[in-house]
Amino acid sequence: MPVSSPYPLVTIAQALQTILAHCPPLAGETVPLTAALNRVLAADILAPMPMPPFPAAAKDGYAVIAADPSRRRRLIGEQMAGHMADVRVEPGTVVRITTGAAIPPGADAVLMVEYTTEQDGWVAIETTVAPGTDIRPVGQDIAAGERILSCGTVLGPAEIGLLAAVGQATVPVYRRPRVAILSTGDELREPGEPLGPGQIYDANRFSLAAAVALAGGLPHPLGIAVDTPEALQAFLAEALADHDVLLTSGGVSMGRLDLLKPILESRGTVHFGRVLMKPGKPVTFATLEGRPVFALPGFPVSALVAFELFVRPALRHMQGDHAWQRPRVPVTLAHDLHHDPERVEYQRARVVLEGDRFVATTTGPQGSGRLLSLVGANALLELPPGNGFLPAGATVTALLLHPPATATASVL
Ligand code: AMP
Ligand code: MG
Repeated sequence: MPVSSPYPLVTIAQALQTILAHCPPLAGETVPLTAALNRVLAADILAPMPMPPFPAAAKDGYAVIAADPSRRRRLIGEQMAGHMADVRVEPGTVVRITTGAAIPPGADAVLMVEYTTEQDGWVAIETTVAPGTDIRPVGQDIAAGERILSCGTVLGPAEIGLLAAVGQATVPVYRRPRVAILSTGDELREPGEPLGPGQIYDANRFSLAAAVALAGGLPHPLGIAVDTPEALQAFLAEALADHDVLLTSGGVSMGRLDLLKPILESRGTVHFGRVLMKPGKPVTFATLEGRPVFALPGFPVSALVAFELFVRPALRHMQGDHAWQRPRVPVTLAHDLHHDPERVEYQRARVVLEGDRFVATTTGPQGSGRLLSLVGANALLELPPGNGFLPAGATVTALLLHPPATATASVL
């Protein structure tokens, strides 16, 4: 009698919905601005002060009274950025001023140095200015109390600069999930060690740790568990002690030593054990003591594709990022393509912009063990079930992992 899995096949959408429901945002923490890059803001930020905080010169020149008709005016002082001179501009006088300096009392405009000639303490003025010219009024860029950043924003250079500009030395962000990573399999050895007969190197622990870090998580590789219930149980106990998420790879398909699912069943709840996709069908999601556990398939490509579709969204969601979805764009196939007629298949491809359309080329044989199919890929082609064949020129949907390059390299 054929052995069949007791787990129903769920759709990718169902799987993702279940995962997100069990991976709520983590608590917030406060970090210095220097540690804020790529973190997700855990609160709205209101400007505690206006910007600029005082009326400031936008140009180098002279602080003047706009309505003053005098063509020659006496230079009575200078106001440099960061200093406050004890001067007041009266009719017939000017004060030298630099960009960013506070406008001295009495003045209502800045006259650019280009429109003047200065000699022996007098300034000849060749033009007229309207009141307010080249003065940045208080709050021109930011009003006091204005919401300048929203909760859920990913912090990049501009956001971090903005926080510094309004005087914030620290920033509230969501905590990064601590992710335990475990490889399973008697055949696995550490890179750098000699291989015995029938053995291979552990690739997944390293690829998954890198993927976790890119998704903003804190990877904590636990090691390799041999295929015994005792070894797996011991690692599970360690993982649950001090992590927010556990990622395992291997041991979830239909082999005799695929022990993980029953162990997860015995210690928690398995929410799904199979997904209608290729590669990655045996991907399993459980919760143990409230912590999410992703048991990924062993084949290195299956593990990374399942990570991309399920674990990355979970890690982003736990960090409070609302915008975790990858861009999905229509792409044109550069060649014929065969795909799975029954499961949604994710084929690895290189997408480039050719004129006004995205064109996709396969990365070669799409075996789930062939990591080279992911190397250099910037997209997963999302191929729904069908008759299994798509001709060159067909339009399909691509999940963009990295922005596509332009086919013809032109510099501006
Ligand atoms: P499994 O899901 O344990 O049956 O593994 C499926 C395939 O993936 C087998 O060929 C394993 O040898 C391979 N595999 C499992 N874990 C890893 C790993 N960490 N690194 C590289 N290959 C692996
Ligand atoms: Mg195995």
